[in-house]
Amino acid sequence: MSATARRILLADADAFYVAVARLIDPEGAGKATLLIVGGSRESRGVVCSASYETRKFGVRSAMPTAQALKLCPQAMCVPVPRGACSRKNAEIRRVLQRFTPVVEGASIDEWYLDMGGTEQLYGHEPLERTAHRMRDAVRAEAGLSISIGGGTNKLVAKMAGEVAKPKPDNNATGVHIVAPGDEATFLKRFLLSEIPMVGPKFVTRLERAGLRTVTDVLEHPLSELIHWFGDREGQWLYDRVRGIDSGAVEGHGEQKSMSREETFSADISDDAALERELFALVARVASDLRAELLSARTIRVKIKDADFTIRQAGRTLPEAVVSDRVIYGVARELLHSLRARRRTAARLIGVALSGLATNPEPPQLALFVDATESLETERDRAVARTVDSVRRKFGQDAIGSAQLSKHDDES
Ligand SMILES: [Mg+2]
Repeated sequence: MSATARRILLADADAFYVAVARLIDPEGAGKATLLIVGGSRESRGVVCSASYETRKFGVRSAMPTAQALKLCPQAMCVPVPRGACSRKNAEIRRVLQRFTPVVEGASIDEWYLDMGGTEQLYGHEPLERTAHRMRDAVRAEAGLSISIGGGTNKLVAKMAGEVAKPKPDNNATGVHIVAPGDEATFLKRFLLSEIPMVGPKFVTRLERAGLRTVTDVLEHPLSELIHWFGDREGQWLYDRVRGIDSGAVEGHGEQKSMSREETFSADISDDAALERELFALVARVASDLRAELLSARTIRVKIKDADFTIRQAGRTLPEAVVSDRVIYGVARELLHSLRARRRTAARLIGVALSGLATNPEPPQLALFVDATESLETERDRAVARTVDSVRRKFGQDAIGSAQLSKHDDES
């Protein structure tokens, strides 16, 4: 007897940042077909996302915005609407959780869903039908379009999600489900570089062995792959090209951590400049935390030095916190300790929050917690809520830059 096949979906918002930017500004970005999200004409940011129409000009994500605007000077350029993106992320998740309790947030615009055990609930309708209903519900309630891939595991669901995505040059319907048993056949159409986790370095090693496509790898026995790439990677590759992946959807509606990081366009060695970057990251991750109605107990800071050495420091607090002030205070001390151990230029810093819990209602908390004993006071939480509502009205940067300008003279 074979076990019942798993039913896994990957829901992925279509051109998420571009779609959200258009949604919140119907008169401006909403009317621009040539739209670049990320950076600005004045500053040197990078493209976070670009509309399909600008891609014809060669504009790509992660490209310096200045370069993108040279390729497509008539494009409209708007900053990343971070607050609105966090809110849309939470809205979409809430819709998906009505269909199954096991939802894992994989990124700001991707969610894995384990549909196991919901068969009876949906009268044994085909998974494809459920996925279409889910897609309609997200469009109606969050105003955004999602694509859904499905299969017996996360790898196949993720790759099916790419096939499902409607683009100007295909006639995809937004849903693509791979039937149990068809995984290996489905995988045969892909390049190795299209398999999740196969990065540019691995692609170079694969090419050196003469391997470019999934079918190239299928011609070689496991022993040969292990000989070339070692036990772990050889076995991993052998499984992947056959559509095998045993990873579970880490769901139950709970997220394990939230993080933000920034790679600098030029390495930074000045402590004050690093603190400013850290402050901006904390403002973003803390706002994401509150948008999801969560609180965090553990704060970690990561730094990547100019020579690519990655170093981390973390601290777990006696109570869960939500405010920028407390999170930044801890993160700044962690940054100082990392910098004291090795003082060299940094390429990247990041901040991560874990030990996440549902954020209790602050007024109730204040009744039982003596504010003087508490790390985070009710005033901190009230300030944080005000910051969120001002950002909702005036944009994510409205308050961050004002607070920062107190200790930042160069603007
Ligand atoms: Mg997406």
